[in-house]
Amino acid sequence: MHNLIDKIIDVTGGQGGNSHLIIGENKTALIDCGMAYCASELINNIKEKLKDNRKLDYIFLSHSHYDHAGAIPYLRSTWPEVKVLASEHAYNIFNRSNALKLIKELGNMAGKYYGYNKQIDYDDNLLKVDQIIYDGQKVDLGNIIVSILETPGHTKCSLSFVVQNLVFFASETTGCLAKSGKINTSFINSYKDSINSFKKCENAKAKYVISQHNDFLIEIAKHDYWQKCLETTIESKEFILKLYRDGFNEEEIYEEYKNTYFDEELKLLQPDIAFEINNKAMIRTIINENTLF
Ligand SMILES: [Zn+2]
Repeated sequence: MHNLIDKIIDVTGGQGGNSHLIIGENKTALIDCGMAYCASELINNIKEKLKDNRKLDYIFLSHSHYDHAGAIPYLRSTWPEVKVLASEHAYNIFNRSNALKLIKELGNMAGKYYGYNKQIDYDDNLLKVDQIIYDGQKVDLGNIIVSILETPGHTKCSLSFVVQNLVFFASETTGCLAKSGKINTSFINSYKDSINSFKKCENAKAKYVISQHNDFLIEIAKHDYWQKCLETTIESKEFILKLYRDGFNEEEIYEEYKNTYFDEELKLLQPDIAFEINNKAMIRTIINENTLF
């Protein structure tokens, strides 16, 4: 077991997005790649770990957001044969020029937020999905199998990855675990999908989880992890709905939400512009889904 965990290496290039390298006997793969501004650091970290002239074969994308996909163009320039594997929704998103524009804009804003002063520029054609992967599909890296789970909720395109039923790379649908142990909810696209996704995560019965925007493994059963994700998601929903029922408008709900949830720890993980975009969308989702009934 420990052997496998040794083959899953944190190669994160900088603040705001995480990236793990998995070294199989035949293939190597990255789970997410983080933001564009820290691509060169990321590439250096990967090269340091790839021995015997091995190259990077796959990039698994948990979803299409700039802080997970932004470094793809740079990785592709370094390893031209690398294949980006993601959901069909992500494939479609990267075919939309307005989405590509937003990814670059947010990448630039985040770079500045984290103290990177150069302008980010790359060929948008490099930001694409090469192979669509589906729920239940397995990818063999050579003695290491990565299973794909569609876990929508954060976005429609959200995927989780289970490595040998041991390590579960949870999509952002489940939230982001901070070092303090607090889980920050992030169900932008659908609360209901998120609840279904939690069940799916639990059913995978993995032993450890790596949450997004973090690099440490925690034992799922010991921390009752999926239950905690569920509880914090319900808590966020109730927080929003209470204000909504009390007559607050979306902007006022957002201000209350930000004052309560955008703490110092979260500020390190997420620029305020991204927090604003994500959470305003989340508030709208909750109100819309709630008023459907
Ligand atoms: Zn995201």
